[in-house]
Amino acid sequence: MEEQGKRRRCLRRVVLVPFPFQGHINPILQLGSILHSKGFSITVVHAQYNSPDPSSHPDFSFVPLPNTSSAPDFTVEIVASTVQLNTNYKACFQECLAQVMSQQGSDEGIACIIHDELMYFSQAEAKDLKLPSISLTVGNAAHFLARSALIQLKAEGHIPFPESKSQDLVPELYPLRFKDLPILEKLESYLALVSKAFNNKASSPIIYNTIDFLENSSLKKIQHQWQVPIFAMGPMHRIASTSSSSLLEEDTSCLAWLDKQSCKSVIYVSLGSVAFMDIKELAEMAWGLANSHQPFLWVVRPGSVLGEELIEVLSEEFKKNIGERGYIVKWAPQKKVLAHVAVGGFLSHCGWNSTLESICEGIPMICRPCLVDQKVNARYVSHEWRVGLELEGDLERGEIKRAIKTLMVGEEGEAMREEAKKLKENVELCIKEGGSSYNSMNRLVEMIRSF
Ligand code: UDP
Repeated sequence: MEEQGKRRRCLRRVVLVPFPFQGHINPILQLGSILHSKGFSITVVHAQYNSPDPSSHPDFSFVPLPNTSSAPDFTVEIVASTVQLNTNYKACFQECLAQVMSQQGSDEGIACIIHDELMYFSQAEAKDLKLPSISLTVGNAAHFLARSALIQLKAEGHIPFPESKSQDLVPELYPLRFKDLPILEKLESYLALVSKAFNNKASSPIIYNTIDFLENSSLKKIQHQWQVPIFAMGPMHRIASTSSSSLLEEDTSCLAWLDKQSCKSVIYVSLGSVAFMDIKELAEMAWGLANSHQPFLWVVRPGSVLGEELIEVLSEEFKKNIGERGYIVKWAPQKKVLAHVAVGGFLSHCGWNSTLESICEGIPMICRPCLVDQKVNARYVSHEWRVGLELEGDLERGEIKRAIKTLMVGEEGEAMREEAKKLKENVELCIKEGGSSYNSMNRLVEMIRSF
């Protein structure tokens, strides 16, 4: 008995396995900070490319996976690259864990492995080593359900779907329309991945970076169908006291520019860390912003404009036209930007982190989803939570200008701002003592302590 108690007291280390992309690294490191504040030691086993910066997390240990310095090209084939990455990483993961165990000495064992759901190889490895594992879903619950439903939708002949059905509601997945489904181009291989990696209902507990009041019905369905412990403990960036985990350098000069703008006047524009546009779309966006006559802060990430070195391609005429009214950076301190009083709207690709960050600050959105889960998120933002409008079809300057005007100065935008304010207040309640996310966090901590 005493032996067992001693063993439990020793199991204090949690190993995190992030998927090596910005939108995945942020939440798992935030989770690490939360668990560290609860007394766990944290080791991050990570790829060598897109590697988190250890100096930003001095309390964590970092162990790079060998031979992982080159990034798979996810822009070419997301599914094949994900499968490949899992195969490659599996080979060296055990070696890394052995290193972790030998480094930490005999007085501290590994309590569990928490892996990004896309690093699904970790689950099998943990099982081999007789270690508990927990999966972290960095997207939301609605996307998780929609993704799981794809296999049945395919079996019933609903997907792929003709253009004429794109606006129809998907059976059992209200409010999603067919066009909102998280389908990838190579449907067959994507479904094979979904079935292999994500639809295993007898698998490990799942952590979601989401909030119960936002996704209550999706979470209930998951709980019912999966029958594993689930923990909706978002927004983790609000619960964790963590420093930035940006892979690119944040240009903080935009905060001084924001200081000079009036309250709620600025539209912030960012399409996250993966989405890209072509030169024509860049020009449409630029002139849509210029013609709106609204102050704007625009993130144009290096590599985000196909074939060009970004800002340099914006014409002199455009730069003269906007003068001091627009500010362009390569990477922004986004959370600080959204929290700034000058920001009144967010034109976003609706990545889940960006969506949550916007909701937390009560900022309404213009949704311009590009990939996978972003379409689900955009639909919820605009149709379910009513804190945004969708910018659909080809990017076109007139439409962009109209959307900005609607959001920033129109009555419709004002109503969305009111709704966004209510969501922000609800978020505050959820993370306070006794709130749903606060309680989930404590349940998770107790579960890990009990391993
Ligand atoms: N982000 C940032 N600066 C920027 C743009 C994005 O810090 O200029 C952060 C943003 O706060 C979010 C993450 O990068 O935490 C992007 O994740 P998201 O899920 O929104 O989209 P993804 O990049 O995965 O498509």
